[in-house]
Amino acid sequence: MSAAWDLELADLHCHVEWRAGQLFWQLRHPDAPGGATRLAPISDLTVDHQPVQWTRLVAAEETPGPNAAPHLALTVEDSSGRLRLVRHFELFAGHAFARTWGVVERVDDDDAVVPVIDGAAILHITVDVPDSVTLLHVEQFSWPYHKDFFSQRQIPLVPNLTPHELRMGSFPAHYTAPTSCAWVALREGRPDPSDETPGSGRGLVIGIEFNGKSRLRAWATPAQAAIESRIDDLAHPLPPGGRFEVPAFFVGCYAGDWDEAGYATQRFAEAYVHPPMPDERYPWVQYNSWKYGQEIDEAQQLAVLERCAELGIEVAILDLGWARTIGDWRPNPAKFPRGLRPIADRAHELGMKFGVHVAIAQMASDAPAALEHPDWLAFGGNDYYGAGAICLGHAPCRAWLIDSLVRLVGEEHLDYIIQDGEDVVKRCLRTDHTHAPGNSNYANSTEGLDQVILAVRRAHPHLVWENCEDGGCMLTYRMARLCHTSITVDNIASYATRQGIYGASYPFSPRYSVRYFEDDPTPYTLRSAIFGGPLILMQRIGDWTPQQMVDARAAIAQYKHLRTIIRNGKVIHLLPPRNNVEHHGRGWDAVQAVSPDQARSVVMVYRALGGPLERVVRPRGLREDAMYVVRYADAGIERVQSAAIVQEEGLPVALDELSSEVIELEIQAQSER
Ligand SMILES: [Zn+2]
Repeated sequence: MSAAWDLELADLHCHVEWRAGQLFWQLRHPDAPGGATRLAPISDLTVDHQPVQWTRLVAAEETPGPNAAPHLALTVEDSSGRLRLVRHFELFAGHAFARTWGVVERVDDDDAVVPVIDGAAILHITVDVPDSVTLLHVEQFSWPYHKDFFSQRQIPLVPNLTPHELRMGSFPAHYTAPTSCAWVALREGRPDPSDETPGSGRGLVIGIEFNGKSRLRAWATPAQAAIESRIDDLAHPLPPGGRFEVPAFFVGCYAGDWDEAGYATQRFAEAYVHPPMPDERYPWVQYNSWKYGQEIDEAQQLAVLERCAELGIEVAILDLGWARTIGDWRPNPAKFPRGLRPIADRAHELGMKFGVHVAIAQMASDAPAALEHPDWLAFGGNDYYGAGAICLGHAPCRAWLIDSLVRLVGEEHLDYIIQDGEDVVKRCLRTDHTHAPGNSNYANSTEGLDQVILAVRRAHPHLVWENCEDGGCMLTYRMARLCHTSITVDNIASYATRQGIYGASYPFSPRYSVRYFEDDPTPYTLRSAIFGGPLILMQRIGDWTPQQMVDARAAIAQYKHLRTIIRNGKVIHLLPPRNNVEHHGRGWDAVQAVSPDQARSVVMVYRALGGPLERVVRPRGLREDAMYVVRYADAGIERVQSAAIVQEEGLPVALDELSSEVIELEIQAQSER
């Protein structure tokens, strides 16, 4: 028994087959390595340690998705007649991308049998590669491995070598070595010859929509390169009526360099993955109370709000310390006797939004809910600022958290939540929770954290949600489906922050590069924080000197002037910051954004310690044959140059140590030529 289906849109062709008890799929596109992926399994699941055989085809429904793009849903049943898998495949107008996910349901009602799903592949992809293929991935944040952050790794997939393994999903940033953003790109050919000489070829990008821990392995044989991703630690029982979601992933085809891989991903994700931008000004300039510590109160923060308004700040956030305790998400009456409403209302009068920080998966042992339900804690001890860890996979605990946050947002007039804390997808070994023992990775992510965010956002659709878990240690495409923005590097130093945006802006749009800015404000440190966003000032801005206010106002004005072109643009990685030593870093780095119509571009150039006094930076991505007005913000240079000259000869920049330059390029109107 077999059957086959074909989805087609523009040049992308997705072929799906059911045969020999499995589903298989294949993509064909002129930009795919070798022109097509090989037929690969897409229904790989083990139950009670046995591979499931999907022996009956129940239904095949083709219904148009958004913009009339093809969408196929296949329903197959296993040989026991207990399990059904509905596997979805969708294509997208205007993007050479396919996305697929599955839902497994228990369909009989025999209470005596409870099969356990203990293995699930997220994806298998294989391509033919006559010569060589290279994989690019970007590390995510880790506190204890302090040198370089968000490093980009180009891994040549060499035949016969042991598979390269990447761990993805939520990890405890204080304890884990750097793991990987849940995104990889593949490209025909070898790694780039140098930082400033990008290689090029046909390739694939892959984004994984799972917040729990997963593992991606990549390897090559003499003829092929393969990628496989699986969920870690899975033990999901399926009683009658039970359900299991096989995480979604997307695959896109592109031709070009790694910047093009990132840009293709980001354009697709902005159209079909992320929540819409909250407004036209996004990403915002924000204030965060962190540098006031936990000693915050109403009078102090009301005074700070007036400063925020002077600076042109658009959102004010109270960080840790506003609540009674961690896990008791009500305003502390000693600090905020009237609650947070007076601050929220004043922020709104000043045209700002207002929000708070929530350590979403933690609870202090003396919080009322912990005293009443000590069994909700996955573990005690000091998981985060003295608080233990709660299990969002435990249904009553999750329901309490959703109720607490829905009430909080309504009562205090909040517009914004930062979810923070150490590893928000807990490893819970308890045997008295509603999730099965051994299943907390799935229960705390798909059935835990994800459901909390969805429920609170559904109750308050205006709410803007930021991911932040002790630094960017859950940079997945599930996070990016649920959250409007994300931290990269936690509050450290200007150079480290530049490393964060440089790396994270391969997989994610520049709006997923929250800049937690804690250095003293100088033209250089401020400049280091204005590519991507949101720009979050976490200093004691009430104590700033007049000069610091002047510098900050200027940088904020420049940020607002450039943010639209950066957030919508193609990010071009010109010169990586890769020497995070002596706190300030060494040498030069540069990053560029080009508007989609190539009419505008901005190049940000930095010199940390050391390095030459002058350097040539070679922008890319300009419109061939066009003339550009080139303006240096600080050096005061303005000239008109052809794209060819700018790209071939480059732009010379002279900088002192710890300084920067911003160069804008704007295409010259036809009439001026
Ligand atoms: Zn648990």
